[in-house]
Amino acid sequence: MPELPEVETVRRGLAPAMEGARFVRVELNRPDLRRPLPKDFVKRLEGKTVAGLGRRAKYLLADLSSGDVLMMHLGMSGSFRVAREGGERTPGKFHHERASARTHDHVVFHMSSGARVTFNDPRRFGLMLIVPRGELETHPLMREVGPEPLGNAFDAAMLARACANKKTSLKAALSDQKVVAGLGNIYVCEALHRARLSPRRSAATLATRAGKPTPRAETLVEAIKAVLHEAIKAGGSSLRDHRRTDGELGDFQHNFRVYDREGKPCPTAGCSGTIRRIVQVGRSTFFCPVCQK
Ligand SMILES: [Zn+2]
Repeated sequence: MPELPEVETVRRGLAPAMEGARFVRVELNRPDLRRPLPKDFVKRLEGKTVAGLGRRAKYLLADLSSGDVLMMHLGMSGSFRVAREGGERTPGKFHHERASARTHDHVVFHMSSGARVTFNDPRRFGLMLIVPRGELETHPLMREVGPEPLGNAFDAAMLARACANKKTSLKAALSDQKVVAGLGNIYVCEALHRARLSPRRSAATLATRAGKPTPRAETLVEAIKAVLHEAIKAGGSSLRDHRRTDGELGDFQHNFRVYDREGKPCPTAGCSGTIRRIVQVGRSTFFCPVCQK
């Protein structure tokens, strides 16, 4: 599933096509994605202008001139293609290749910018909903979402509070969207390696008995922010999607320190460890047992 840096990269790729533009025509090629599309979906979009395209956790949020917000989630396999005169591209770099078979083109936005924005999603775990702006924060999909890791509010004190009474591992705690939004398997592994903390360590050790952040919490917050900033800068991760058509997108995955690097030498300076893979909560965790404590 795409993580925060990938979604943010998609947002940046879509913004020039959508921001300030009007939905001239909306094509729906099926009635549902993961959930049914709203019955009045087309009517609530056509003729409306996108005032801004934002992001919260892994949701893209298009603010409409009508006061509604179009919520979009890529799910497991969703992607957008932006077509203009002279070519088509897929914003965002993904660890798993995106499909482009036309049979999976479920929603098409014809924008007044001249761009055609197509949502393609073979597995249909993606989502599009329209919610009045005033109801967004209390929407069932949004109200339990934790802090944005790149926001100023997310700091060691906040992370320590969220983890103080947790019985789970650090890996599980950071993967929990209520603790921090937008992180998944890749960036949790990367952040823990950078912070030199074992994924098996108890999450509660980020807090003192009094609930104050330990130095580990400070280090971890810095590592999370650094990993995400670098990934966004590189345009998200990608293994096989080489349909790279705008020069600013890079391949962050070449910079992975531990993710998918089982058996390789640990990249920490002076560390003689070898990257190991274990399974936690049903997902692969990659880490160095020597320098991550
Ligand atoms: Zn190491």
